[in-house]
Formats: sequence, C-alpha cells, structure tokens
Amino acid sequence: MADKILVLVNGARGKMGKESVRAVREAEDMELVAETDVEDVLADAIRDSGAQVVVDFTTPHCAFQNALTIVETGVGGVIGTTGFTPDQIDELEIKCAGKHPGLLIAPNFAIGAVLMMHCARIIARHMPDVEIIELHHPAKLDAPSGTAIKTAELIAQSQARTIVPRGTSEPAARGDRFHGIPVHSVRLPGLLAHQSIIFGAEGQTLTVRHDSINRSCFMPGVLLGIREVLHRKGLIYGLESLLLTE
Ligand code: NAP
Repeated sequence: MADKILVLVNGARGKMGKESVRAVREAEDMELVAETDVEDVLADAIRDSGAQVVVDFTTPHCAFQNALTIVETGVGGVIGTTGFTPDQIDELEIKCAGKHPGLLIAPNFAIGAVLMMHCARIIARHMPDVEIIELHHPAKLDAPSGTAIKTAELIAQSQARTIVPRGTSEPAARGDRFHGIPVHSVRLPGLLAHQSIIFGAEGQTLTVRHDSINRSCFMPGVLLGIREVLHRKGLIYGLESLLLTE
C-alpha cells in the first residue's frame, strides 16, 4: 500500500476539529500525526510531527496567521476556518503562487452547499433579483457566514452586476449588502448551518436551500481536500474548484 498522508489537525479540541480528527483516523490512506490547539506553536508542531498536510478549524482571529505559518513551513493546508477578508485572500494568493503543495481555503466543505452555490450562479443569470438568508448556531463568531459571502460573490460574477452598497436611508433590517446582494444573518439555538437563496421575479419566487444536519457532512470534502492539495500548487479557494469543472 502507498505511504499514508501524514495529517495534523489544528483546533483539534473544537467541534469541527474533533470531527476532523475522527475522519482522518478512519481514513485508510491517512495517519493523524498531531492534534494542536490554542496552547501549541503551530510551526513547531508541524516540524516535530513531520505532517504533510495541516487541517485548520480554529477561529477567524488566528486563521490568517495559521495560513501564513502553513505556507512558510512548506506543507499543504486545508483551511475551513471562516472570516478571511478579501485582502487576506489576495495576500495569501500572492504568498502561495507557484508553491507546492497547495493551500485550500473552503468556506463550506459540504457537497450540498457547493451545489447550492453552483445552482445559484445559473439561476441568477435568469432571475437577477435575489436575497440570501443564512442561519447558524449562536456560537458562530463571524457574520455573515463565509458561505453567504462566497454565494453573493459567485452570483455577482455571473451577472456582471453593478455593486450597490446599502443606502444610508435603507433600514438595517433590509440586511447588509455583499457584492450588492442583501444578506441576512440569523443566530439561534437549535440551528447548525443553513442557507436559503431566494430569487424573485414577476409573479414567482425560486428558493434554493441547504441544511447541514450534523458536522459529519463536511468530512468528505475535508478528506478530498487533504488528498488533492498534495497534487496542486498555489491557493485554491472554494471546494468547487476541486469538484466542478464548469
Ligand atoms: P470551535 O468549536 O470554537 O473550535 C475552535 C477551536 O480552535 C477551539 O478548540 C479553540 O480553542 C481553538 N483555537 C482558538 N485559537 C486557536 C489558535 N490560535 N490555534 C489553535 N487553535 C485555536 O469552533 P468550530 O465550530 O469547530 O468552528 C471552527 C471554524 O470552522 C469556524 O470559523 C467556523 O465558522 C468554521 N466552520 C467551517 C466549516 C466549513 O465547511 N468550512 C464548517 C463548520 C464550521 P479555545 O476554545 O480554547 O479557544
């Protein structure tokens, strides 16, 4: 059998970290070589463990620094932590350019969510009026979600839309604008991760909705990312870059 992929999970005590630890342990082609969390020095742990790929599910305030550490230590990265700003993504793209293995940043690892965004791009070409409602558990630190921002970006790209910021006279309850599209964030106990994209046109609406029922839904995407970054160069943004060719 081929050598196993050596994986370090950062944020291993967190909800997504624990799920990733379990998934990597169960994957026959992978070996979990380290679990790190807030008290560890990531660069030291990468070197000491000999990890080839780092999975990061930590917090928005440290994810950019973690990404830099991953790139600087020359290993592959699979980052699911959300909250990256467009400027940070641009900086990482420059830092990673041409570097092997690659760095994958995916705001959503659920295949259903990737397909939801893909469908939204197609629908938006025919029904340009759209709003996004994202709903998450109350412990989520960032709002709106990375998935909602990414969805708005993809829709805007497919429409060549003029970006209109929220007008000062517009009530805050109409949502904040991302890429010109109103986005509404709901945080409630009982929710995990959900999103509705509502398109409206004369006499009709069309809603595309995705629900993450439990965190295991993200793991096939995470494992795919671990396998793929070893064969790729530079920054890969969004799981759709690995799943969809169109
Ligand atoms: P969580 O339960 O709060 O876990 C975060 C973990 O990271 C905690 O154990 C935390 O430790 C640790 N941590 C904090 N700072 C750290 C640092 N500097 N170095 C290493 N570890 C550190 O959060 P979660 O629900 O697992 O979510 C984690 C991230 O993944 C969030 O940004 C969330 O939005 C995102 N997410 C992404 C996807 C996706 O598909 N891409 C899906 C779900 C969630 P302490 O608790 O001690 O601070």
